[in-house]
Amino acid sequence: MFETTKALVLREVKYKEADRILTLFTADNGKITAKARGALRRNSRTAAATQQLSWSDMTLFFNKGKWTVNEASVIEAFDGLKGDIAAFALGSYFAECVEALSVEDQKEPELLSLALNSLWALSRGLHDPRKIKAAFELRLMSLSGYLPSVDRCAVCGAERPDEPVFDLLDGRLFCRRCCTRGSAVSLDDRSLEAMRYILSAPPKQIFSFALAGDALVTLGFAAENYLLAQTERSFGTLEYYKQFKTD
Ligand SMILES: [Zn+2]
Repeated sequence: MFETTKALVLREVKYKEADRILTLFTADNGKITAKARGALRRNSRTAAATQQLSWSDMTLFFNKGKWTVNEASVIEAFDGLKGDIAAFALGSYFAECVEALSVEDQKEPELLSLALNSLWALSRGLHDPRKIKAAFELRLMSLSGYLPSVDRCAVCGAERPDEPVFDLLDGRLFCRRCCTRGSAVSLDDRSLEAMRYILSAPPKQIFSFALAGDALVTLGFAAENYLLAQTERSFGTLEYYKQFKTD
């Protein structure tokens, strides 16, 4: 059975002489594993389209429970990532997160849009990468069933806590004096405002907030550690990205 779909290459692993085993996030079937035979052979027609972080049109063949890439052509190569090692590392982290939080064989259009919009913004240098990363992480958590609850203090109901803190284990907001938990991290007015913006903005506007300096670092710390606390795992690509990060 042949099927055509658009697919984002989340991961590629060399297999045998010239094949690739791909983890694809497809528009029609969600996350699948597919083999691209001969993709590493010289003059291969599928080489570019089966590279990690390529967004491609693919014709796939499904037989006995296994997918094979029959034809593939690049729609968007995200070239801006390929010439910038830090940006590529961050894009690879986005891909690893999507792989970790998506469900095999399940169509997830919002998650796919989030991944593509984030890679696009990163590739084009449209925003500070730290803003893109925090927005990606928070929206990913929200789409994956871990929506933080940051409208008001979970104890006293204050909408603007004097010293806001965010609990990484249950995703709730507290005033510092209301919070008895060791798993909470500090926010400030501006990072809390940005977090609320990111969680409520239309999908294509999630990066359109103004934040810099310490408040951006605070937001980044909370977003990353919330994702790590909820997923209860580490990400090799995140460790790799941090080698290039300058802040
Ligand atoms: Zn309170």
